[in-house]
Amino acid sequence: MKLSDIGEFGLIHRIAPHFLQNQPDDVRGIGDDCAVLPLNETESQLITTDMLIEDIHFLRDGITARQLGYKSLAVNLSDIAAMGGSPTAAFLSFGLPEDIPVEWLDDFFAGLAELSQKSCTPLLGGDTTKSMDRIIINIAVLGRARSDRIKYRSTAQIGDVICVTDFLGDSGGGLNIILQDINAEMNPNARQLVQAHCQPDPQLQEGAWLATYDAVHAMLDVSDGIESDIRRIMEESRVGARINVDDIPISTALRSLAEQFGWNAIEIAATGGEDYCLLCTICPRDFPVIARHFEKKFARPLFKIGIIEKEGALAYYQNSTLIHFARHGWDHFRMK
Ligand code: ADP
Ligand code: MG
Repeated sequence: MKLSDIGEFGLIHRIAPHFLQNQPDDVRGIGDDCAVLPLNETESQLITTDMLIEDIHFLRDGITARQLGYKSLAVNLSDIAAMGGSPTAAFLSFGLPEDIPVEWLDDFFAGLAELSQKSCTPLLGGDTTKSMDRIIINIAVLGRARSDRIKYRSTAQIGDVICVTDFLGDSGGGLNIILQDINAEMNPNARQLVQAHCQPDPQLQEGAWLATYDAVHAMLDVSDGIESDIRRIMEESRVGARINVDDIPISTALRSLAEQFGWNAIEIAATGGEDYCLLCTICPRDFPVIARHFEKKFARPLFKIGIIEKEGALAYYQNSTLIHFARHGWDHFRMK
């Protein structure tokens, strides 16, 4: 059997059991957006790490060095946001080919420093090594959160409203533009999508705000696409989910480009990934009030896209009819 037969998540399921023995009750290891360790009586330490590899996660010609520096930190901060925490420090491990221009590196660090300052996440160390011909970036971020407010993937409840904090699919559309070599410069919609793909903003404020509500039961960040990410909540919480595809929020920019280029906007929104907004499940009784306050605070809706159901399949409905997508969310080792 090969890795491609079990996929990324199959591998994670094989790793986890080896390390569960003797894990204290107040420690969360493999299985959520961050690991959680007790820090003191009231607070916990959050730890997350993510790797970006040239030609797998990015093309050197498809993203500027400055954007890549920003994005490398953003994808990690997004996992801190997903737990409802605040970041405290970052570490960068860098594999670099020896012919990389120093100007490229200066731009990379300018982008990284921009988000580091904006998010109060100082870079406190790392490691640098030579790589054969590809750039390898691994960032680890530490954060903290009040222990009683941390949001996990494992705490969704039957009947919860499933919602997302932003439009879905802009990043996936941006990737299409890059891969199809569409000139985005003269087209503001295309520029918006490429920006969403190349320089996502982690939703730290939204995550910390949602975490103050006990009625917000489970949360994660949308990194692989809701098609895949909702399954993580379903597995960890042992529940099912029903999504109404007409409620999936799609920006006018993505809608109009999808029409122009014949893309399936809903499929991109559900499976494209790298949106880095938050998906949470909320007690249905409290949802209307939380949604109203969210809209007042963040000047956009908290989009309701579905309902948590009893354990079972992930079901998509359009006009009360069950539908299926051709593509699934991103899994590194499975064929798409
Ligand atoms: P995210 O997309 O939020 O970064 P993933 O869904 O990729 O998280 O990962 C799920 C869980 O598996 C996380 O808790 C992560 O720490 C863990 N994980 C992923 N790869 C490994 C690995 N090689 N060794 C140990 N744990 C891993
Ligand atoms: Mg995550």
